Amino acid sequence: MPRENLNPFKIAQHYFQQAADRLGIDEGMCAILSTPKRSLTVAIPVRMDSGSYRVFTGHRVAHNMARGPAKGGIRFHPDVTLDEVKALASWMTWKCACLDLPFGGGKGGVAVDPHQLSIHERERLTRRYTSEILPLIGPEQDIPAPDVYTDPQVMAWIMDTYSMTKGATTLGVVTGKPFSLGGSRGRDTATARGVQVVLREACKDRKLSLKGARVAIQGYGNAGANLAKLLHEEGSRIVAVSDSRGGTHNPRGLDPAQLAAHKSGGKSLATFPGGKKITNKQLLELPVDILVPAALENQITAANAGRIRAKIIAEAANGPTTPLADEILFKRGRTVIPDILANAGGVTVSYFEWVQDFSSFFWDQSEVDRRLEGYMKRAYRAVAEKAADYRTSLRGGAYVLAVGRVVDAVRVRGIFP
Ligand code: NAD
Repeated sequence: MPRENLNPFKIAQHYFQQAADRLGIDEGMCAILSTPKRSLTVAIPVRMDSGSYRVFTGHRVAHNMARGPAKGGIRFHPDVTLDEVKALASWMTWKCACLDLPFGGGKGGVAVDPHQLSIHERERLTRRYTSEILPLIGPEQDIPAPDVYTDPQVMAWIMDTYSMTKGATTLGVVTGKPFSLGGSRGRDTATARGVQVVLREACKDRKLSLKGARVAIQGYGNAGANLAKLLHEEGSRIVAVSDSRGGTHNPRGLDPAQLAAHKSGGKSLATFPGGKKITNKQLLELPVDILVPAALENQITAANAGRIRAKIIAEAANGPTTPLADEILFKRGRTVIPDILANAGGVTVSYFEWVQDFSSFFWDQSEVDRRLEGYMKRAYRAVAEKAADYRTSLRGGAYVLAVGRVVDAVRVRGIFP
């Protein structure tokens, strides 16, 4: 078994370089596009409730801003590193280009386990982090959003800290905000709804029916739990789900309402009484039609790709599949809907939120969902066409489409001065 490099930034650069080679992009342009435009690492001192102090490390990276301001979430997780944030920022560049949104790519993160903090400590951490990265962010520069273990409340604190410092309420500085603060209808379910739309398209292409399909979902947060609910409503059978502590499997199907009730008591899905306990690794290899990694990076690797039985893998998470695993799955005839397409519903509705904030005119949920479906379907078809043109996977097609669009923007703008 070849040893895999699991550094997410190296992986992101690998996928970029593949597309650059296909497009015949010259070395200079490759250097421009594979290097993040700017990275800031900050120390975040926080007064704990006990009166003591702790210092956390945070980052904010803007990868490329040729097509518009940087856009991308903020992650609070103990494993956050600068290389992970750089990878996530570059994936945002390609994702926004793939969906044809007028944004570049950015990302932020703080190495912290927010579950170990009180709500007051979390607020002080968020506000100090915001204050430290404040020179870089803004509605026309770089616009954060939620990611793993951050939510609308965290976005509200960021928006307030930014606004208090600038002396003016600035709704458009973050997306994924609560409705009472200029949030958009449909943002909470947007990532999942986007996955649902591209799954429908991929099922059509593979002559499968989403109705009745057996689905396993790894990760049960914003992306995973909302998707389980939407697919259940569509008639798919959710046979396995998991969170950070493990999962549950029931071949007859699991009811998302019961799973939500179990989780809302603070319990892990691993202890759900309506299924058999499984590990996160086991979940990936179950006999299902559709597998949705919706947690963290590097879950499907060369070590388990040969044992994945799903026909379609929809990457709700960013970077769940390593390049070697991707090749194995392609050779085995599996359809992988890549992250930069599959989970783009979140940033698409974030774009809608930003537009609504600028105009101070808000759309109803049906309008948001209708427009989202249009963006996702168009992007899926454009990606599938590129994949066919280049005789490659959907990932190969998505990168060719996205990298080509960013190269065009850089070329017509020119390099300053
Ligand atoms: P979240 O914080 O809402 O939920 C994360 C979930 O993953 C939780 O259920 C957690 O228990 C689980 N988890 C954590 N570590 C795990 C592990 N080792 N194994 C299995 N499960 C684990 O986060 P989210 O917003 O749903 O993000 C999940 C993924 O989706 C991330 O890769 C994120 O970058 C991606 N994503 C999210 C959005 C969005 O709008 N929220 C948009 C695009 C992509």
